[in-house]
Amino acid sequence: MNRTVIVGAGVAGAQTALELRHRGYNGAIALLGEEHQPPYDRPPLSKEFLKPATEHHPLDLLPAQVAREQAIDLRLGTHVDGIKAAEQKVVLGDSSTVAYDYLVLATGARNRPLSVPGANLPGVWGLRRLDEAEGLRRALDHARDVVIVGGGFIGLEVAAAARARDTNVTVVELMPRVMARVLSPEMAHHFAQEHRRRGVEILTGVGVTQLLAGPLGNASEVALSDGTVIPADVVVAGIGILPSTDLAERAGLRTSDGIVVDRHLRTSDSRIYAIGDCSRFDCAVSGRDLRLESIQNAVDQARFVAGQIAATNRPPANDRPTALYTALPWFWSEQYDSKLQIVGVAPTEADSVVRGDPSSGSFSVCRFLGERLVAVESVNHARDHVAARKILAADPTRLRRVTRAAVSDAAAPLKSL
Ligand code: ADP
Repeated sequence: MNRTVIVGAGVAGAQTALELRHRGYNGAIALLGEEHQPPYDRPPLSKEFLKPATEHHPLDLLPAQVAREQAIDLRLGTHVDGIKAAEQKVVLGDSSTVAYDYLVLATGARNRPLSVPGANLPGVWGLRRLDEAEGLRRALDHARDVVIVGGGFIGLEVAAAARARDTNVTVVELMPRVMARVLSPEMAHHFAQEHRRRGVEILTGVGVTQLLAGPLGNASEVALSDGTVIPADVVVAGIGILPSTDLAERAGLRTSDGIVVDRHLRTSDSRIYAIGDCSRFDCAVSGRDLRLESIQNAVDQARFVAGQIAATNRPPANDRPTALYTALPWFWSEQYDSKLQIVGVAPTEADSVVRGDPSSGSFSVCRFLGERLVAVESVNHARDHVAARKILAADPTRLRRVTRAAVSDAAAPLKSL
């Protein structure tokens, strides 16, 4: 019998297993995950989950009962130690092996560690797993001064959740502006203003040099690169992630800030796929080599790979994948009552056409690379977002009609383009 082994039981891994069955795959499926709880939905962990006085049950993506019904061998608390690619086997922590016909690496990422003295003091938090979110939530309930290192999505979502408790919140961002990696200056400015309006202090162009302990040994102060020292009883590091590529590297697969895959999401070993946060792929929509950290990417790549593997199951046996992965990237974030939706991927050098009035709290920023629309960022404007998805998914010849002048007229619906 054909067997698929999936390493990593996050959203990408769980979705692959479910989708294989959905597509009629009748081989064996083993889903191996390091964490002890069944796969859960991570995005709420930096949002609703951290707010005070709310119910906290992250969505189960694959409850044990469903795994049994779908004949998915879900093995939690299972660390995969190595891959013997030539023998098509993975080696587990207890030295036992699991054989595969297809292997899917959905190993995700880990938080980039804050590498300054004091980074390991009690009171310093990272946020990726459920246990970290639970601990951080309790810490926030008793916090007076919260310092967040890193003004990316995670840092700013945590800032918004912390402010819901009326604690002092300071965000320390190394770059000259927040969310510089993913957002236009115009949209980043809007979000920075929203935070400041709610009393969050945002410091840009400064780094953290040291975390200092108080009399009880907990973090109590943060020293900054400009010489200031600010009080902090809770410090959250949200300075980005490092893709988990070590298994792939040791197996001799090609990696480069991610596990490198082809247009079929296959690694340099055609029996092994890599999907989700750990996968570096050639994005058909943006024409760029990317690694994306989003639910959309995890889910769409999982579905694609499941489709590829399930197809090998059906007669006539066809071992060669033919379809290309072409999904359109999109992202979202929620801070206070601002819902941000992004479709497409803009390199930092892309320029912006603002659509609508930013002071209204509902507007979009269209990003252009030369004369080509490459991404649309919308805040509290689902209509623009939905239209932008259709536009960016359309064929490039039609995209030519979408000019800067056309999108800048907010009175004309994007849909009409
Ligand atoms: P995430 O999605 O986890 O928020 P991002 O990479 O989008 O990750 O954001 C991380 C942010 O942290 C970036 O804006 C980056 O400039 C910032 N950053 C990275 N290292 C430091 C540091 N040592 N001090 C302050 N900010 C940092």
